[in-house]
Amino acid sequence: MLDKLRKIVQDVDSAPNFAAALTTMVQSVRETMGTEVCSVYLVDDKTNRYILMASGGLNEDAVGNVSLAWNEGLVGLCGAREEPINLDDASAHPKYHYLPETGEENFNSFLGVPIMHRRKVLGVLVVQQRAKRKFDESEEAFLVTLSAQLSGVVAHAKAIGAFDSLRVSSSPRANQTRIFHGISGASGIALGRAIVMYPPADIDSVPDRVAEDIDAEIGQMRRAIEAVREDIRALDRKMAGSLMAEERALFDAYLRMLDDNALVTEIEDRIRAGNWAQGALREVIEDHMQAFAAMEDAYLRERMADVRDIGLRILAHLQKQEDAGLRVFPDHSILIGEEITTAMLVETPLDRIGGIVTVLGAANSHMAIVARALGIPTVLGVSDLPVTSLDDTEMIVDAYQGRIYVQPSRQLRTRYKDIIKEEQQLVAGLEAYRDVPAETPDGHRVALYVNTGLMADVVRAKDRGAEGVGLYRTEIPFMLRERFPGEEEQRSIYRQQLEAFMPRPVTMRTLDIGGDKDLPYFPIEEDNPALGWRGIRITLDHPEIFMVQVRAMLKAAIGLDNLQILLPMISSVFEVEEALHLIHRAMMEVQEEEGVPITMPRIGVMVEVPATVLQIADMAQLVDFVSVGSNDLTQYMLAVDRNNPRVADIYTPYHPSVLRALQMVVEEVHRIGKPVGICGEMAGDPGTAILLMAMGFDSLSMSASNLLKIRKVICTVPYFQARGLLEQVMQVDNAAVIKSLVEFELEDLGLIDLIRPSKK
Ligand code: PEP
Ligand code: MG
Repeated sequence: MLDKLRKIVQDVDSAPNFAAALTTMVQSVRETMGTEVCSVYLVDDKTNRYILMASGGLNEDAVGNVSLAWNEGLVGLCGAREEPINLDDASAHPKYHYLPETGEENFNSFLGVPIMHRRKVLGVLVVQQRAKRKFDESEEAFLVTLSAQLSGVVAHAKAIGAFDSLRVSSSPRANQTRIFHGISGASGIALGRAIVMYPPADIDSVPDRVAEDIDAEIGQMRRAIEAVREDIRALDRKMAGSLMAEERALFDAYLRMLDDNALVTEIEDRIRAGNWAQGALREVIEDHMQAFAAMEDAYLRERMADVRDIGLRILAHLQKQEDAGLRVFPDHSILIGEEITTAMLVETPLDRIGGIVTVLGAANSHMAIVARALGIPTVLGVSDLPVTSLDDTEMIVDAYQGRIYVQPSRQLRTRYKDIIKEEQQLVAGLEAYRDVPAETPDGHRVALYVNTGLMADVVRAKDRGAEGVGLYRTEIPFMLRERFPGEEEQRSIYRQQLEAFMPRPVTMRTLDIGGDKDLPYFPIEEDNPALGWRGIRITLDHPEIFMVQVRAMLKAAIGLDNLQILLPMISSVFEVEEALHLIHRAMMEVQEEEGVPITMPRIGVMVEVPATVLQIADMAQLVDFVSVGSNDLTQYMLAVDRNNPRVADIYTPYHPSVLRALQMVVEEVHRIGKPVGICGEMAGDPGTAILLMAMGFDSLSMSASNLLKIRKVICTVPYFQARGLLEQVMQVDNAAVIKSLVEFELEDLGLIDLIRPSKK
């Protein structure tokens, strides 16, 4: 059964369009289950009715022409109950609604299962038979499984408007606005044209793009193919001594594929039809892979991997040629992609980037944090975005609401330009908070620090009166290089940070890679990276990396003495002790080498793991300060991957357990007389910042783009009022209710504009 299921899903996936996908779906289900009818009803969002969209077995004329109200008939019942309806005699059921156009009176048994995507009913998949019989358990399970697998195809088709075009049986108008939904990663609005970003040699993400010069594209393709031929011949020669002739036969097969005119001619035909070389290659490789995938013979099916490999090799050569010609980023470019990593982002000309949109990722993924620091409106987790077809398309990114408008209408553009103006006024209004201390009207003082990583952050932070750096993410300069930076290289990078803020403190976190933070030259492949080898676990396993970094920090601080060192992902006392031991050793070494006394920097522990919350008093005894990394702490407290858009709506720092954990950390650390700050994204959010201040955090550290907003919040909200709010929310057991209570308070205080513009 599993094979049959896989085959249906593959057939549907490889259908050329949505109409063909639906027809394939109903025919395949009918054949596989041996039923007389299989039909798909889909909900039309405009009328809220179920429309018969495809059927094998009912009258063909009825398709597209009959519909049921949302609660009408057995189809409506199945959708309303969100569960299968399995009947041996459909017409005897009180909800049965006869549709004469379909000819369904001939069929007695009925099994309908809802098509669900993200808790929403998209439609109902139905099988029917003449015989009066209940479908057995395995048939029901089969249809449920299939429906769950196909729901993604339906959701995608609806999102890109394919459903509308099918319903009205005409193509969508070329200038029709399309809307996509995701999660806000960094608030703001952007208007611009899309640039598709894709990792090198990832053939699936290559966008379609109009070939400007067809001959030049064909020339590039021929050169790339010749280069691959040469690579393969070289590989064959190299392996001659170590592989047997049969094993080397693969190389011959590759060369034959490249010499086979079919592949090359097909690619050139696609280029002549107007797609650029990389897009044409993707199209042809996809077609060939689909043809192999459809083959019954398992051996032939496996040749798919070879076709893909050849495609990747050609693509790598094409991309080399593209890099040589350097990509152009116009002003206000909107970067879009399946996934855009921090490393990909920081390599772009950042001053030209207006917005970012990705299919994967969630609000607290690392790239989102960097985008926030840079003030670039970002929407993530737009699972339905047809990335490859959007290159150079005009779009609006509404990162307040997590919405993307593709080919926006004139009215939309005007409306959003007004919102941008309003934002600019808001920013201008915040200028007044540039030089005032962050102190509540009733005299409670909180230190406001900045989170940095790039040099651009430093300039913006100083401009906005940061009182120091609460978190310097050292992995960011590491990402900008092609190998680990050496000690002298690191020393000079760190010196710039320390000098820029002197005499204010700069908290440098030791290398925090792993999880979603990969270095291109130190890839870590793990099934479960969030629970794997990351942060201090890596650097304690590689003391050579840790020591070079700490020595570079200590040398950089000579004569400045404003360095603090922060240890990430601590989960045991032993790790703190080991790290302290290495830092002491580095200090002795540097002192001896430099011949000057070295001041021991203040050392801090990050609280990111629930185990550390419960043991914080033990750990705080060993160090000088504590800093809470609430992004990871929320992830681990709630067991919710901070990068996974599917669970993004349950990742919330307003969760009562997270708030209780934070309160506990503050109380414990203060009990032993040490300072405690917070450097996760909560610190830069006006709503959560009020609660953190009320809890007694000594410092809040945030991206430069939030500094003025949070200073305004602190200068506006009396401490006693924040305490009152905290007391109230700590009695509540529900995150959504807590969030609303806080937002009501912001509303009352006239601060709601800080989280969403009033024009929305
Ligand atoms: C955190 O986890 O809250 C934190 C500040 O670290 P990062 O976001 O870099 O993992
Ligand atoms: Mg972290």
